[in-house]
Amino acid sequence: QARMESLSIATYQQGEDERYLRELMIIRDLPIALSQAQLHLVFQPKVDIQTNHCHGAETLIRWLHPELGFIPPDEFIRLAENSGNISIISEWVLNTTIKQLAKWQQQGISLTVAINLSAHDLTNPQLPLDIEQLLISNNLPITALSIEVTEGAVMKDAQTVIAVLQQFRNIGISIAIDDFGTGHSSLAYLKLLPVNEVKIDRSFIKDIHTDATDLMIVDTSIRLIKGLNLSVVAEGVESAEGIDILRKLNCDIIQGYVYSKPLKADDFIVWFQQFNQS
Ligand code: C2E
Ligand code: CA
Ligand code: CA
Ligand code: CA
Repeated sequence: QARMESLSIATYQQGEDERYLRELMIIRDLPIALSQAQLHLVFQPKVDIQTNHCHGAETLIRWLHPELGFIPPDEFIRLAENSGNISIISEWVLNTTIKQLAKWQQQGISLTVAINLSAHDLTNPQLPLDIEQLLISNNLPITALSIEVTEGAVMKDAQTVIAVLQQFRNIGISIAIDDFGTGHSSLAYLKLLPVNEVKIDRSFIKDIHTDATDLMIVDTSIRLIKGLNLSVVAEGVESAEGIDILRKLNCDIIQGYVYSKPLKADDFIVWFQQFNQS
């Protein structure tokens, strides 16, 4: 018995060590990834289900590591946040998105791309003005870019973050609250925050066609959000039934595999133009 126990502890310890090494490697290699073009962006359409039109996309980061393969963004973004590297990633995402938007604009394609910002980004009072300058100097309209922030990011340092969000709002950059329902924010916060859009988390959406409780939660959330005059996005819709249900519930926008997985820039534009033609 004692032997069994020590064996399983040893196995556990080995697993822990492996995870620790992997994390160290990820943190060590992040700056290299940036300079060696191991990162790229993918784009997932956001579709207005009342008009059946796509006005834009959310951009999501991808990292193909030479030894570890694809590292999920959830994993390395968290590590970047904890190791103080998140601002270099956000800066890369921002600059790469602007370059892509400028290229599309030269091809006569105008759309809105949402980028994800982390808590730390939102404590930088210079960021809204930097983004505005970047858009102006690339001849892009202010509506070309929007931002997504989680409830958790706001709660960290609410006073500072709300002031920065207010700046974004004053400039005219649209703000979405991401992963709505998963944080521990009170609903009262929605009233205080200068946001335009709320994205209901996939965990409430994924079983909406079979689970009556989820259906009720989503229905109530949509009424609440629309009651505050904000636009509602349902994340992670995978079935046509999901679209029908959400359309009846008065949801504005859907993002999910039912329309498309996140795509590389060129593939996204093919999808975008085809979808909006039909
Ligand atoms: P998120 O911002 O909530 O992004 C939505 C995630 O849901 C994406 O995962 C997307 O691929 C996935 N998704 C969309 N539709 C469906 C669907 O129908 N079914 C399923 N199963 N999944 C769907 P991804 O790309 O792995 O990103 C995970 C998280 O990593 C993001 O969650 C976001 O928190 C973070 N992240 C990704 N890119 C960035 C970035 O550039 N900056 C920052 N700060 N965070 C990022
Ligand atoms: Ca997001
Ligand atoms: Ca989300
Ligand atoms: Ca998320």
